[in-house]
Amino acid sequence: MFDFEKVIQWIACPHCKGTLILVDTPQSRRYSCTSCRQDDPIIDDIPRFLKVDDPLLAQAKVHWEDSPHFQYETDQSLYSKEYYEAQDVWRQEEVDTFCMDEYRFERLKGLVTLDIGSGSGWVVKQAAKHGAFSFGVDFTEKAAISTREALRTYGLFNGMAIQADAQYLPFQTGVLDRVTSTGVLHHIPDTEKGIAEAWRVIKPGGSAFISLYGKLFFFNPILFPLATFFLRLLLKAPAKRDGIEHTEDYETFDCYMDGPTNPIGRFYTYDELRQLFSRFRIERMSRSHFPFRFLYLGPIHLHKVMPRFLYRFIDRNLGMMVNVQLSRP
Ligand SMILES: [Zn+2]
Repeated sequence: MFDFEKVIQWIACPHCKGTLILVDTPQSRRYSCTSCRQDDPIIDDIPRFLKVDDPLLAQAKVHWEDSPHFQYETDQSLYSKEYYEAQDVWRQEEVDTFCMDEYRFERLKGLVTLDIGSGSGWVVKQAAKHGAFSFGVDFTEKAAISTREALRTYGLFNGMAIQADAQYLPFQTGVLDRVTSTGVLHHIPDTEKGIAEAWRVIKPGGSAFISLYGKLFFFNPILFPLATFFLRLLLKAPAKRDGIEHTEDYETFDCYMDGPTNPIGRFYTYDELRQLFSRFRIERMSRSHFPFRFLYLGPIHLHKVMPRFLYRFIDRNLGMMVNVQLSRP
C-alpha cells in the first residue's frame, strides 16, 4: 500500500507551503494544512492538490486529458503489465534511445526523486525500480492514474502519484535529491515559475534533469516553409499528434506540433535556456528526440532502416528537445 503518513516528511501545502497532517477517518482521507487550513483530499490513492483557477491551465488540461502520453502509441490494454512493458521498449529503443544515460537511473538508490509532469509514469517507475523514493506529479487525471498504476502494477510502493500543478508543487523547500521533467515545462502557463518551483524543492547539492523544446535552425520565415514541406511528405503521425498539418508558420508550430488543440508550447535557444536556468549550475546541454518514428518514405519506416550511426547523429544534432543536466549549488 502507498504510505500517506510517511510522505509527510517531504510534502507540504502547495498553497502556502505550510505543514500538512494526514486526516484518515472512515468518512474521508485527506491532507490538512496546519497554516492555511486548506483540505486536499486523497482520492483513489492519489493526493489531489490541483486547483484550476487559470483558464489557460484549464484549456491545457483539457488538451492533455484528451491526448495522454503514450496511450495512442500502443494496442496493449491500458495499465496492464504488457502496456508498461511496451512503454519500456518504446522509451528505450525509440523515443529515448540516444539519451537513456541522461536519466542516471543507476545512481538513484536511496534518493528521493520527483518527476514533474509524470505522464504515463515511466520515469517514476524506473526511479522506484532503481531504489529511489519516487514521486510523480501531473495535472491530468489520466496521467496521475497511469503513474499510480505504473508503480502498483509492479508492487513498487516506494513512490507516489500526486495530482498537482507544476507551478505550485506540494513539497517542502530543499527536501528532494533529484528532480526530472522531460517535455513538460514548455507546456504550462508560466514556464519560469515551474523552473523556480523545481529549484525550490531540490536540496542544495541535489540535481535536476530537465528537457525543453529547443529551437532548430529552420525556425525562420525562409527555411520554415521548406522544412515543413519535406516533413509533410515524410510524416505519418497518429491522429492526436498530426499538428504539423495545421501549422502555417513557425510561430504556431510551437503549439500545433502537439496537436491542434494544444494551447501552450514554447521553443528555446541555448541562450534562452542558460537564462532560464541561471540559478542552477548547468553541467551539460544536449539535443535528442528527432521524430524518426513518425517518418516514412512511401512504405518504408525510416527509423527501422536508417543506419544506427546516422540515426544517432541526426537525433543528437537535430532533435526537438534540449536536455539540461543541472545541479543546485
Ligand atoms: Zn496551507
